[in-house]
Amino acid sequence: MEEWQYQMQNQVNSIEKLEQIINLTAKEIEAINNTKTKWGTTPYFAQLMDKDNPNCPIRKQVIPSLQEKQNRYGIKNYLIYKENRSNEENRPDTIARQYKDRIAFTVMNICANYCRHCFRKELVVDESLQLRFDIDEGLGWIREHSEIRDVLITGGDPLLLTDDKIEYLIAKLREIPHIQMIRFGSRVPIVLPQRITKGLLKVLGGFHRVPIWLNTQCNHAKEITEFTARAVYDLLSCGVNVGNQAVLLKGINDDPKSFKDLHQKLLTVRIRPYYVFYCEPAPGIDHFRTPVEKGAELIRDTLRGHTTGLAQPMYVVATNIGKIPLMPDYYIQEKNPENYILKNYQGCLTNLPNIPE
Ligand code: SF4
Repeated sequence: MEEWQYQMQNQVNSIEKLEQIINLTAKEIEAINNTKTKWGTTPYFAQLMDKDNPNCPIRKQVIPSLQEKQNRYGIKNYLIYKENRSNEENRPDTIARQYKDRIAFTVMNICANYCRHCFRKELVVDESLQLRFDIDEGLGWIREHSEIRDVLITGGDPLLLTDDKIEYLIAKLREIPHIQMIRFGSRVPIVLPQRITKGLLKVLGGFHRVPIWLNTQCNHAKEITEFTARAVYDLLSCGVNVGNQAVLLKGINDDPKSFKDLHQKLLTVRIRPYYVFYCEPAPGIDHFRTPVEKGAELIRDTLRGHTTGLAQPMYVVATNIGKIPLMPDYYIQEKNPENYILKNYQGCLTNLPNIPE
């Protein structure tokens, strides 16, 4: 058995297992006892939790909270709404679509870490939404839709499929002439870096007509270790680009220091910050949500001009009609026939000539 398989078979998903690693509070124990749905993480990720601090950013992503029972703002049947699953287009369960030229290909509902803030909760955590993961049916649909050029393979976590299945998926997609790129959405470089094995690298690696991009999800600098660094280096070395899609999470990364540290530390392990997502209105995750403006303010106050340009993610909200940018809009202060008056990150003003078309 490989280490990653051992990690999956020994997920930390009971009070007894957790108590060997951290000191649980009475509230956490009560929440776990009241949770009927999937929860848990890998022993590796669990070891990164703070032993005594219930506000530890990793602890909050792993351990259920009683607040999950409250649902004032979450939209019921969220994934059906968000992924346009009830519209007239007849698609296989595996295919979610918001754009003309690209789709999300949902291949399984198992994860290494059952993130408490997951917007796919209904599919992955609660399992109230059951999909048929018929990969060949999905491939057939993609083959027939020549307008699709970009396939995002997602789940659950698609890198928890066996090497053989991943190889099959990639090979079949590459056979389709209109496919130009394959993307994986996977948290394993963060929660289970042991999954980036020699065997998997062989499957993902190499020079091909259709490249592979991988976007992971890291929400706090504390999640980044030397194991992450190695896994990402190996992925890059075999030709797989690695980006990050963080979620803006109240009490986890919505303070200036955590937000800046996260984006700077990602670059130290060669992960390019790509998106910061507003925490979507899925059910049971109200307590993770900030005001919408928060992400733009954090980018304005901690990243733009304050650190390396490569550390700047795009702040967006993912909706049923696609992603909508929510970036800070403060630089053009005034426009007159001669000039634009621009403001920088320190509040200083400068002029730029207004050149007529
Ligand atoms: S890894 Fe992704 S799909 Fe799985 S629980 Fe976390 S956020 Fe949801």
